[in-house]
Amino acid sequence: MAQQEDVFKKIVSHSKEYGFVFPSSEIYDGLGAVYDYGQMGVELKNNIKKYWWDSMTLLHENVVGIDSAIFMHPTIWKASGHVDAFNDPLIDNKDSKKRYRADVLIEEYLAKIDDKIDKEVEKAAKRFGETFDEKMYRETNPRVLENQQKRDEVHTRFAKALNDNNLEDLRQIIIDTEIVCPISGTRNWTEVRQFNLMFATEMGSTADGALKVYLRPETAQGIFVNFLNVQKTGRMKVPFGIAQIGKAFRNEIVARQFIFRMREFEQMEMQFFVTPGEELEWFAKWKAARMKWHQALGFGAEKYRFHDHDKLAHYANAATDIEFEMPFGFKEVEGIHSRTDFDLSQHEKFSGKKMQYFDPELNKSYTPFVIETSIGVDRMFLSILAGAYCEETLEGGETRVVLRLPAVLAPVKLAVLPLVKKDGLSEKAREIMDELKFSFACQYDEKDSIGKRYRRQDAIGTPYCVTIDHQTLEDNTVTIRERDSMEQKRVSIPDVEKEISAKTDLKNLLKKLTE
Ligand code: ATP
Repeated sequence: MAQQEDVFKKIVSHSKEYGFVFPSSEIYDGLGAVYDYGQMGVELKNNIKKYWWDSMTLLHENVVGIDSAIFMHPTIWKASGHVDAFNDPLIDNKDSKKRYRADVLIEEYLAKIDDKIDKEVEKAAKRFGETFDEKMYRETNPRVLENQQKRDEVHTRFAKALNDNNLEDLRQIIIDTEIVCPISGTRNWTEVRQFNLMFATEMGSTADGALKVYLRPETAQGIFVNFLNVQKTGRMKVPFGIAQIGKAFRNEIVARQFIFRMREFEQMEMQFFVTPGEELEWFAKWKAARMKWHQALGFGAEKYRFHDHDKLAHYANAATDIEFEMPFGFKEVEGIHSRTDFDLSQHEKFSGKKMQYFDPELNKSYTPFVIETSIGVDRMFLSILAGAYCEETLEGGETRVVLRLPAVLAPVKLAVLPLVKKDGLSEKAREIMDELKFSFACQYDEKDSIGKRYRRQDAIGTPYCVTIDHQTLEDNTVTIRERDSMEQKRVSIPDVEKEISAKTDLKNLLKKLTE
């Protein structure tokens, strides 16, 4: 675990050193849980967004996009339930004065028991070798059983307390399980209180009577309130979806872990409107489609898992998360929810406007049910960095840090490197660069030794480098070096474009999704 935390720290400092992510307002000592994306970060982020957007809108004829405003009528947040119920249960440790989410403390406690059980099983597997029967061991080993029972008891109680909104019992679970504050090491806890996560501000001058408005805590409501606008003007027929990418804001209590939990972040959300009764079928379809989207990036299927929710919101009839194995454990990257007709019905009630769809095939009007897929751009970004970051020792003992980014997402696709600055090699390299820059993101670099330049490109995840050497002037060929294998091959200049495009074009990744 300590080792993994080490890796995480390295990822954070690597992100800063190479222009991916900077702390916001750094020269003023930063602003809690707010970050800026640098010259490399913005490219990676844009590529992630494009992958998502194109997979939604190009691959599904019945999914269209919108871009709604961040400010919305405040009644929207009444209707959606955010004013009254968008709360986190928080608890303070009286000695360290640190504030925690009560639910997160308990979840971490449960994860620790899971870890203990897994370690026990691992140890036994080593001891017994090939004859080891894991299932039987889990079902019969007294220490495993004892831990499992403890875990199940706490888990059941926890799920009930969350469902009943029982803050006293949440606190009691923390007391009974003897959870201590990681900073002070004490169990001196306050009561558990609810804390609303929305940022509020005022619109208009106070003389006119200012309107209290909120910074949206999710992009989804902008889709719901435009449901009929899009349906009518786009002549959409149920089932259809509306996708949106945009900023969201939450006044998170525990804002740690770099860009995993931010106060200003970006979401990619898609609401899919279906005929009531068909929602669970669509839920299963989107669940599979979204997992495929993640796994197509090639980090390995074992890095992802579904986590079905214990606590279903009262309006949801199914919900799951897609989790990715971050350096600090499996964590939610995306949520997929079957939200029934809750949102549209609420907006109908609060606005007094009909939010129904007339189904020409069924010849009747109804309020569609909704399947939502909701993913955080920044969390996706972090999962990609975590999956890609790699330290290697090369033959000869030299080390390198390489970001094994999926080529399609890499900020720079091709580095153009003249072996030396003289003998006309720079000019030739410039010529190649001027030709290729229209096809994909290229970076020209002629400073330092070629080895150092390769390392710089490895560190930002550039999948390919072309090197222009003296032979280039003779036979119009260059070497292409591949980042991960470091293999080099000679290619004639007119073929470079095709060669690199074949590996870096988003089209090829999108095609995988339809296979
Ligand atoms: P969590 O339980 O981690 O707070 P959530 O269940 O509240 O997340 P949702 O409301 O389902 O999250 O939001 C959908 C997605 O938006 C999440 O899967 C995550 O990727 C992203 N997201 C939510 N809150 C944040 C945040 N504070 N910073 C970065 N991304 C976030």
